[in-house]
Amino acid sequence: MKPFVRLIAMLAPVWPVMLLAVCLGWLTIAANIGLMVTSAWLIAAAALHPSIAELSVAIVGVRFFGVARAVFRYLERYISHDATFRILSRLRVGFYQRLEPLAPANLQTWQSGELFSAIVGDVETLKDFYLRVLAPPLIAVLTLTGLLLVFQHYSLSLAALVFAGFLLAGIVLPLAVRQVNKGGGSELVAARAALKAYLLDTVNGMTEIAAFDHQQRHLSTIRNLNDHLIRLQGRIAAVSSLSDSWGSLIMNGTLWGVLWLLIPLVRSGTVEGVYLAAMALAVQSSFEAVLPLPMAVHYCQESLAAARRLFRLVDAPAAVLPSGQEQFAEPEQAEVCVQGVSFEYDGLGKVLNRISFSLRPGKRVALIGPSGAGKSTIIHLLLRFWEIESGLITLNGRDYRTINPEAVRRLFSVVSQQTHIFNASIRENILLACPEAGERELMAAVRGAALDEFTAGLPEGLDTQVGNNGQALSGGQRQRIAIARALLKNTPVLLLDEPTVGLDPITAKQIMNTIDTLMRGRATLLITHDLTDVETMDEILVLDQGEVTERGTFAELLNSQGLFARLWHLQQTPLA
Ligand code: ADP
Repeated sequence: MKPFVRLIAMLAPVWPVMLLAVCLGWLTIAANIGLMVTSAWLIAAAALHPSIAELSVAIVGVRFFGVARAVFRYLERYISHDATFRILSRLRVGFYQRLEPLAPANLQTWQSGELFSAIVGDVETLKDFYLRVLAPPLIAVLTLTGLLLVFQHYSLSLAALVFAGFLLAGIVLPLAVRQVNKGGGSELVAARAALKAYLLDTVNGMTEIAAFDHQQRHLSTIRNLNDHLIRLQGRIAAVSSLSDSWGSLIMNGTLWGVLWLLIPLVRSGTVEGVYLAAMALAVQSSFEAVLPLPMAVHYCQESLAAARRLFRLVDAPAAVLPSGQEQFAEPEQAEVCVQGVSFEYDGLGKVLNRISFSLRPGKRVALIGPSGAGKSTIIHLLLRFWEIESGLITLNGRDYRTINPEAVRRLFSVVSQQTHIFNASIRENILLACPEAGERELMAAVRGAALDEFTAGLPEGLDTQVGNNGQALSGGQRQRIAIARALLKNTPVLLLDEPTVGLDPITAKQIMNTIDTLMRGRATLLITHDLTDVETMDEILVLDQGEVTERGTFAELLNSQGLFARLWHLQQTPLA
């Protein structure tokens, strides 16, 4: 479906309100015309010195139209903005909901800044589509119809002149703006998004930029992006001023033509003299309905460019097939079997080749191997972020592909090397795993993760704010939050993806001791580079270039004198 039609379809829930806003917009312009007409008539009639009684209706009319115009304008703005913001909030939530199933597989080609700019900036741009693109043409048509109905009574050529003026200002001028501003809307949306994305990336990488002394380079890129945006905005401002001047020229030209046609009608007595100024001013004030149309073309281009970006994002097919919608009762115990699984990322070459292992309740499996061997990929497949290419993964004997991805993920807790900490309190960060958990369960998780001493020492305890991405926390404390989350979520399967990487040896040992409690009774898969962590594992798989090259217990692998034994001896040998 075309973006324009899709955007209109999104109006469905609020179309009666939007229609009411259009009517109010039209009434505002009608009240303005009424105000001009009655005022002009009043002045012209007063010059003939009639009795005050003859003028009283017009005096009331001036008061009425003056007040009505303000009231209608207020109501129109209030109702149309309220309805528009409702649509925008639905759009934001709707886009986010469509985005979630795409993560992470189909979002990896988007920068985080681009996503942010799409969800926030592009949705915001769509505001103009409803306020400045859809309503003005309808209001212009209603105004023109009313004007023609009145004017054709007096003279057909007068009506034709007004029609021509509206045609020039409402259709020819917008077409000219479209021609001059070709591509301006989409360029503006792209430039705004590029600047936002780059700024976000720069802010996120501030530490690295400062450490590598790249400030000047980043500043000059930001300056260039900003200059480009300002140039585009300047071009659009120029187009807007030019279209305003041409609009005024057309309006005043029409007014001049109306007077030129009306004066002979007044002379011949077809039109009473007191109506001359009233009719001329009626035409002039009615142009208020048509003058916004040229720039509506620009807003339409801009909104469609924003909509295209948003639709391209959310229309990406989900990486995981939408199968498994039938009921799946969450089991207390879970056994996950990986049988002969092979996988590659979007045709980029085989990453895993015929991998087999099983995770049973209470069983601890370790996965070791060099970087790039495919260890994290196994976790991605277990969490059903990607669909396997061949082989089978089963959960309690049932094919993964028949289970909803969310249902699968509910059975796993992950403690990874990149624990994301939200800009919230420690409490909120832990409760993320189970928002409905009570204070008792929360405190048990805090104790289980050995966070109690640390939080007790903070003035605000668990309610301490941790800053953007947990800046106020050390690496060990971040991992303890991840462990507390896993304890609270209390799932049958535990995935540990290098949970101690980057920590000093003492903290790493303490974290592994805490994790030991977490593993009890659960099926666990541990990825690690530290071979001392795997001594107590039930099974160790050595992964090399996507293949399991060795497997067995710690003792068996040491005896086999293979890669594992070599790595172990390497780790035991102090550096010369
Ligand atoms: P490990 O965890 O053992 O370091 P990974 O599973 O992260 O290895 O990566 C295995 C291979 O897959 C690497 O060659 C890596 O470049 C590639 N890879 C990992 N993630 C992606 C991805 N999202 N898209 C494309 N290739 C990827």
